[in-house]
Amino acid sequence: MNQTTPLLRDKLAWDGKKLVVTSDAVIDKIRRQALSASTSKSMQSCAARWVGERLLRNEVEDPFAPAPIGTSAHSVMEDMFDEDVYERPERTLALAEALTIRDSDVMWPEVPEDDDGVRALTRVNRRRWIEEVKTAYEGLWIIEDPKTIEVYARELQIDGLTINGVPTNGFIDRVRYGVNKRGKEGLIVEDYKTGKVGNTRFGDDHGDQIRIYAAALKEKTGELPVGGTVLYTKFGKSRDIDLSPGAMSKTLKTFELSWKRHNRYMQSREFPTKVSALCGWCPLINACPVAKEEGKTVSEKVADQMHSATHLGIPALRPGASVAAMASTEDTIVAKHGQEVSFFMPDPFSYGIPDEQMAEVERASELAAHMYASGENPIISTDKDHRMSKITEGKVWESYTAEGELNPNSYAAMGVFGTAELAVEALHRGGLPISGTNVTALASTFQHIVVEAQEHWTGSKSAADGANSRMRGALRTVLATLPMPFGEDAAAWDAWVVAAIRRCKSITAVALHLFSEERTESPWEALAGIAPESAPEPAAPAPKAASKTTAKAAPKAEEAVEAPAEAEAPVDAPAPEPRRVIRKAAAKAASPADDIDFVPDDFAVTDDAFVS
Ligand code: SF4
Repeated sequence: MNQTTPLLRDKLAWDGKKLVVTSDAVIDKIRRQALSASTSKSMQSCAARWVGERLLRNEVEDPFAPAPIGTSAHSVMEDMFDEDVYERPERTLALAEALTIRDSDVMWPEVPEDDDGVRALTRVNRRRWIEEVKTAYEGLWIIEDPKTIEVYARELQIDGLTINGVPTNGFIDRVRYGVNKRGKEGLIVEDYKTGKVGNTRFGDDHGDQIRIYAAALKEKTGELPVGGTVLYTKFGKSRDIDLSPGAMSKTLKTFELSWKRHNRYMQSREFPTKVSALCGWCPLINACPVAKEEGKTVSEKVADQMHSATHLGIPALRPGASVAAMASTEDTIVAKHGQEVSFFMPDPFSYGIPDEQMAEVERASELAAHMYASGENPIISTDKDHRMSKITEGKVWESYTAEGELNPNSYAAMGVFGTAELAVEALHRGGLPISGTNVTALASTFQHIVVEAQEHWTGSKSAADGANSRMRGALRTVLATLPMPFGEDAAAWDAWVVAAIRRCKSITAVALHLFSEERTESPWEALAGIAPESAPEPAAPAPKAASKTTAKAAPKAEEAVEAPAEAEAPVDAPAPEPRRVIRKAAAKAASPADDIDFVPDDFAVTDDAFVS
């Protein structure tokens, strides 16, 4: 590009692998008051790139670039579904074409006074523009008959709503009344896409967007929509989106993580880099030290639109230099401020980035989402292409490092590491294979139990809380007293998880009772007459060598405990079930602890064990 002003010299600086914003005005410009689905996606990718795009975005757009053509197609579809203006039977290709021509008259007005050369150029552009806009929306008639659509809202604004604690903004293209695949009637959230159908193998940005919109609609109407669909109007395809609780939870947790990251970056003014296939489309690539180190080069499709490192003019902070010092540095390079910059932001998604490159990018986002959904904060990918900046440890009460990652020294790190370690111990004791799948599944299960019980007690789910630590202690007791149903089906695990949560809650209730001011005189009297029917089970199964069987085929924990007894018993006299039944001797005067409900150890055979 022909540009001589160092555009960003007094705004940004490189500090190792981070981009530092050195200007208050820039921070004010890029700070979001609310999070949109697209900014959330950016927060999961390279934050430095996001800053560069914000600063280098030009107000003057190429009218034939994919994004403006898509916007114009959206506008036609929005107007066509305006029920105050057009009846349903009028929703035809002819109406859409008439609306497009109407818009083209505004976009490409022909001035009779102009000479023929100018008028000819206007006509050529106008015809081309009409065809490209029509191409972007006409596939809608392949997907559906627009005359049958019962519209609830068009361009529904979701600004001002809070989703999962995150202030949100944006517009939902279309909400209609409909019936989902299971025959349930309700609202269906829809989004028009004029680009290509996304590859969902490693991630689903379009699905996440629909799920965020679905959560917003629930916030607005009180009801979760019965369906969500992406309408690929250029290619005549549609895709129904999974709105199940699991899928919603994962998306919304990532959304929450994105907002936390945004706020941290704004506070620290430091924006981490993340090398990926998108580097080739990044407006900072020619100045980015990380991309250079990784050998990333500009995509040929946008090479002529990229600024050189000299034009960008982003300095590097000297070791030890502070952000404030950089902000006051005199600009000694030639500066012709006010110079017009003509830069059309390349949009890799609209240009059609190759699937394999997109998959590489999506894999990183998916990894982050998975880790966050299971309670961890994404730390570092070992994948060379997704490596992040070096981690700097903070204070114990700081869950995140300056780079926005898990602080290894924090209470939160102790929490998530402790849970992971507990899972490994439990699998080892159960004689089960210690594989990534098994450990992750069991650690996530433990985390679910801990967080449920913790939230019941304090209303918080933070891994950094003392309550989280207490619940992990309670969970250790649960593991020693309620054998896990290894080898049994999902229903058995459902029952065990419910029982484990209840026992954690009950332990908490007893602890709170002990903490209360009330003291019972001779509390041991309540124990008089209570005896086990048989010897109690050992506190925990003995360690057993890891088996090569899978988790599903592994023996029950109880069986592992009982095995030695069976070996010693006569062949025709199997060892009795070591069930412990507690009986109360007699009715006692009511005490504050009487209503503490402990799920019995043999909960699986107790009919009323799960009555709340
Ligand atoms: S070149 Fe790559 S790593 Fe550097 S800022 Fe751009 S996207 Fe981030």
